Amino acid sequence: MSMTGHRSSTPTVSGAPRDVLRRLVLVVAAMLTLAAVPAASAEGGSQLVAQELRIAGDATRARLLLRFDSEPTPRWFLLRNPHRLVIDLPETEFDIESDQVQPRGLVSRFQHGRLGPGTSRIIISSEGPFTVDHIEVMENSDSPGHRLVVDLLASSDREFEEALAEQIATTGSTQSTPKTDRLGGGAVDREGRPFVIVLDPGHGGIDSGAAGTKGTQEKMITLAFALELRAALQQLDGYQIFLTRDRDLFLTLDERVRIARQHEADLFISIHADSYRQSGVRGATVYTISDRPSDAESAATAIRENLSDAIAGIEVAESKDDVADILVDLVRRETQRFSMRFARTLVGKLSQQIDLINNPHRFAGFKVLRAPDVPSVLLELGYLSNPQDEEQLRDAEWRAGAIDSVLTAIKAFSQGRNGSDG
Ligand SMILES: [Zn+2]
Repeated sequence: MSMTGHRSSTPTVSGAPRDVLRRLVLVVAAMLTLAAVPAASAEGGSQLVAQELRIAGDATRARLLLRFDSEPTPRWFLLRNPHRLVIDLPETEFDIESDQVQPRGLVSRFQHGRLGPGTSRIIISSEGPFTVDHIEVMENSDSPGHRLVVDLLASSDREFEEALAEQIATTGSTQSTPKTDRLGGGAVDREGRPFVIVLDPGHGGIDSGAAGTKGTQEKMITLAFALELRAALQQLDGYQIFLTRDRDLFLTLDERVRIARQHEADLFISIHADSYRQSGVRGATVYTISDRPSDAESAATAIRENLSDAIAGIEVAESKDDVADILVDLVRRETQRFSMRFARTLVGKLSQQIDLINNPHRFAGFKVLRAPDVPSVLLELGYLSNPQDEEQLRDAEWRAGAIDSVLTAIKAFSQGRNGSDG
């Protein structure tokens, strides 16, 4: 089935000047405000009836499926502040239950209603930038009518801006200016960009993580360490640092992954201090992702970490396949190579400052390390189940030593990456 609108494909347009973009978005936003979307129209005369809506997915991707009694002819476009996908339809009666429009994962809000005579509008808002991976109208096979299927993928700000620029170019609202030196740059001129690091203090909020014998909570240790590491990194030139959380806040695992991808991070470090079933075991471990765990203990640790969402009462059933999918299909070899390289460097530097576990570089299927395009490691600073480790983790001086090692490792890794690509 054909439909009008713009298809977001691999970025090909180098972009319109930012002020033109901003002006256009402001104008459209003003129009939207004036037309404040009303509640579902129950007026007669609607030709089209939307009968059922389903939203599925997590913080990294979403699928929306909207069933109609007859064939809709949608037009769509993007808006930012906040990031939105707008779909215009011929006048439509929305016969959908309020529980079906509940936000989920990447979709933070679903609004619908009559826009004016003959037109209805759907607004899908997102927590962050996304790309429209797929949008299609299909004829139902099991029942009369049609369905609109929309697939969204969490993306970086740059990718969202490129899709916006492409949209402006194809609508002809402004003349497109072939400029490549746009702020923010692209994959081609990445060299001028700072090295972007996303630090992820493990756990938070309702999920406090492991607990030490002295009552130390893992979520507080990981946060303290991340804040101190950020402060140390900020003393250096050429690095841009983001935290997935900078306070005691619960985040799902895929939200952490989404944040890393949003910033197009060059490195993602998830920080933990878990417990071990034998209290005698101590020392730091560096994990990278793998569908084949290096040992039984690492496998058990990954399973425990992946339970974080469930601890907070977040439904995880549907993302189970996802994990396997991503482990098999999406973890790009190159990303994995960089993750491994950083893990080795980190182990080397840490070993000069702090105690490590036996075989300190280990592998397992950690969900939080699954960004396909961001080199990622999980750093277990030590074990709260061990009294000596707990003592050290609470000691700012000990942490400063560990931070010094992490800093040295980051410097070596970022320089190596800018130099050769081997
Ligand atoms: Zn943990």
